[in-house]
Amino acid sequence: NSGLVKAAPRQSEFEPHESSKPVRFSDVHGVDEAKEELKDVVAFLKDPSRFAELGGKLPKGVLLTGEPGTGKTMLARAVAGEAGVPFLFASGSEFDEMFVGVGAKRVRDLFATARKKQPAIIFIDELDAVGGKRSARDQQYMKQTLNQLLVEMDGFVQDEGVIVIAATNFPESLDEALVRPGRFDRHIAVPLPDIRGRAQILLHHMKEIVVGPDVDPMILARGTPGFSGADLQNMVNQAAIQASKEQCKAVALRHLEWAKDRIVMGAERRSSYIDERVKRLTAYHEGGHALTALYTEGAMPLHKVTCMPRGHALGVTSQLPKDDRLMITQKEFLADIDVALGGRVAEELIFGAENNWGYSEKIGPVYLNDREESISTSKREEIENEVRRLLQAGQSRVFTLLRSKQHELHRLALALIEHETLDMEEVEKVIRGEPIRNIKDVIS
Ligand code: ADP
Repeated sequence: NSGLVKAAPRQSEFEPHESSKPVRFSDVHGVDEAKEELKDVVAFLKDPSRFAELGGKLPKGVLLTGEPGTGKTMLARAVAGEAGVPFLFASGSEFDEMFVGVGAKRVRDLFATARKKQPAIIFIDELDAVGGKRSARDQQYMKQTLNQLLVEMDGFVQDEGVIVIAATNFPESLDEALVRPGRFDRHIAVPLPDIRGRAQILLHHMKEIVVGPDVDPMILARGTPGFSGADLQNMVNQAAIQASKEQCKAVALRHLEWAKDRIVMGAERRSSYIDERVKRLTAYHEGGHALTALYTEGAMPLHKVTCMPRGHALGVTSQLPKDDRLMITQKEFLADIDVALGGRVAEELIFGAENNWGYSEKIGPVYLNDREESISTSKREEIENEVRRLLQAGQSRVFTLLRSKQHELHRLALALIEHETLDMEEVEKVIRGEPIRNIKDVIS
């Protein structure tokens, strides 16, 4: 393989133009969990051989998933910045862009350059453009490019000191070969920022401009649910341009509001701006999951609840298993069902049945998976009846539970609308009616 290194260009097209100063983790806000997960990648790159000696096992490929503009590129650059290693940038959509069929060669060059400069980071933006399942115009060449990528990733060994970080907003559309063990087998979500994250991002970008006394980042953060980091930066920039057009000495709140409205219009087209009604509905829905998890015996402990969208979901309630759950008891199984139903039941309880998105009264909360062809009609009927019975029993349990905890549900939903993300401890405080952290503290 080393013969290929000679072919690498002296000055690689993949090296970024010398940017002014390296990005650090402290520049990226509102994505603490992703940063935490990337820390061992930094430790590895700082000293690959020592890491290997200590028996540390590291993925070769890390996949960052999330909407455009949430800071995936920035995070990858920050990993390079923290570790003090070169950052090689490539975009999946550009491999075969200029001349069809050169993709495979460019992938080879990219990896050869990285090996020469190791330890180093390769960043591939829009991985789905090479690794997509759907048919493309020049599928045959895309396949070659994809295969070359797989060959390169399989080719390097643990202590070689090259880490490939890729980004995509469509992880489910990736070719399965790409996400097999030993390739992009570590996935890290980079979500849209919640209200605290947005305030921090706004403050970060407002450092570069002069703002007037009427500008409160907290109020701006409150009014921008669904905005990505890039949207927020864009908002600050546009406000600054507008202020200078008007020959003002400082950027005022009205400039920022004006810029916000322009971006909302764009964001509505992308459908990532969250309107008040949807946020309220989501807060009750997630609140229902969370309360059910909290009060149902056998349920996995609650970890976090948020009414910020992630992937295709409007909100997320996450639980952490106590152990590996290799075996699951019937009690735990029923608890899982109840927690899953909690969202829907909460909505129905608060907003009435007609607000329930497309659930059928007759069929009940049943989802049918029709892939199993070999079952007889009568057997299938039996299974369906049993599933329906289980779910309906769950539904009435959860109804009884949430009806008796309506007061707590309201408290929780209101806190979610205000804070957007709550951890288990905060959920417990909120439902007891106790105050939680002052939101202003996070940004001071
Ligand atoms: P992605 O790769 O997810 O599309 P980028 O990393 O390219 O997003 O983000 C584009 C720009 O938006 C960044 O250069 C930065 O100025 C701003 N930005 C995005 N996310 C964040 C964040 N989490 N913290 C601070 N700035 C951000």
